[in-house]
Amino acid sequence: MKKVLFTQRSDFPHWVGDGFPVRTIFSYNDIAKETSPFLLMDYAGPAEFSPTKQRRGVGSHPHRGFETVTIVYDGQVEHRDSAGGGGVIQSGDVQWMTAGSGLVHEERHGKEFSQTGGPFEMIQLWVNLPKKDKMTSPRYQGIKSSQIPQVELAGGQLRVIAGEYGEAKGPAKTFSPINMWDVRLKAGANLELMVPNGHTALVFVLSGNVVVSESHQLISAEMAVLETAGEKIQLKAGEDTKLLFLGGQALNEPIVGHGPFVMNTTAEIYQAMKDFEAGKMGDMEPIEGSD
Ligand code: MN
Repeated sequence: MKKVLFTQRSDFPHWVGDGFPVRTIFSYNDIAKETSPFLLMDYAGPAEFSPTKQRRGVGSHPHRGFETVTIVYDGQVEHRDSAGGGGVIQSGDVQWMTAGSGLVHEERHGKEFSQTGGPFEMIQLWVNLPKKDKMTSPRYQGIKSSQIPQVELAGGQLRVIAGEYGEAKGPAKTFSPINMWDVRLKAGANLELMVPNGHTALVFVLSGNVVVSESHQLISAEMAVLETAGEKIQLKAGEDTKLLFLGGQALNEPIVGHGPFVMNTTAEIYQAMKDFEAGKMGDMEPIEGSD
């Protein structure tokens, strides 16, 4: 059984633009080795938004060298980027955007959700790209809930967003081996998740509570970082629990990041800044109703 190395939480919420009240659960500035290939996780909400005619969110900004993955649990997020990618994702959907060599994008609440208001909850991950793929062409994968296979577990369900679980294969195309599972457990469920030996393993609880590998109880907005050795994670849910499992093969490459760019060297960061200022990451039409 994989042992828990440590747990992590954030008690300091901040706003990303005016649309996303987030807690940064981990970042490569604090822990990089144990979470690779994942660079950062922002947990937005749960929050309640009032109806508005405005489009809350974050305006045009660049990225280079990694992927942003947005999982919507409640609410609606609209995206548009300079590489022509875009779409609206809602509850159960996932947006997997490869920034690669660079783009600028805008992230806002969907038009419908802005008008009606309501509960909002999402996760945004930054997923690192292997050195050889950092300058790949930008790509947008808008993954609908209906494309995500669901596996029945003894005591819950597991949706495979990326990677595989048993026979089920996730729809997301990735550049390195990654498992991303949306897991729901019923109160009292006690089960073992089978995971690849040697991979990074992170368990993050959105709601409910769960004891991980018989040692650490996680409540809402807490994450367990597990050792890479071993193939089983034991999960014992104290109540109905919604959790995200993140796994993958660590990249073991140097990380140098600054703001919206994450590369392997300082020289590459300067180059990214230069390229952005020279307009090489493109330009885009703003989302309707944004300021
Ligand atoms: Mn962004």
